[in-house]
Amino acid sequence: MTAARTKALAPLLSLALLCAPPAAAQDEMSEAEAFVASNILHILLHEIGHAVIDQFALPVIGQEEDAADSFATLEVLTIYDDDVDILLDAAEAMLIMHDIAEAGGTPLDYFGVHDLDIQRGLRIVCHAVGIDPDRYDEAARWTEMDADQQQACAIEAETAIESWDALLEPYLREEGASAPPAPVTLEDSALPEMQTFLAESGMMADIASYVGETFRWPQVPALTAADCDEANAWYDPDRVEITLCYEFIDELFALAEQR
Ligand SMILES: [Zn+2]
Repeated sequence: MTAARTKALAPLLSLALLCAPPAAAQDEMSEAEAFVASNILHILLHEIGHAVIDQFALPVIGQEEDAADSFATLEVLTIYDDDVDILLDAAEAMLIMHDIAEAGGTPLDYFGVHDLDIQRGLRIVCHAVGIDPDRYDEAARWTEMDADQQQACAIEAETAIESWDALLEPYLREEGASAPPAPVTLEDSALPEMQTFLAESGMMADIASYVGETFRWPQVPALTAADCDEANAWYDPDRVEITLCYEFIDELFALAEQR
């Protein structure tokens, strides 16, 4: 990483120290569980991206879903900078979802609010390689990213970091400031294995600490895991609540079997 890029990361880096990675828990996980945990982390950070945009009334130029994805990816790069698997797992899940849709003949939704899954997955790799080409060199090879594309991704990732830093700076707590965690609710589930996995991973508690300690929220978003009858996650601006569906966790385990 160049000195300039390290400097660009510095403001976001201050967030990092507030949130201890769930390394101990992940060490004891199976490969499939670690893959699912990586994806849950990226998904929750994506929803927190929506929450900061809403709560701080941030301007969004372009697709909000892209902004939420870049927030999640850049936060992972900052908070968990020694764990490349998190972003590789998140990217791989998107690529698997694309392959499944393609194999099933599902029409591509060019008017969707999200980019296509394959684009979202490759954008994660693009930002990761752009910011830390040495650590993610295998991902660049895996996705056949050439030198020009790597250069373009470095420029884009740096723009994304500078933009997020400028927008978030007024709302960051001072480093080391203590604040209560975001409220967490793990509702009972018809998929009890998913509920147990989420509870034992400690991820919701870690993310709740990060949410509470990092930002000066007008209203701290609540984090809820629930049965939803769909494999999804969302941020509800009226309730100021992030919901992660147990069905989504179940789907992630099914994706893990497709690897
Ligand atoms: Zn979203």
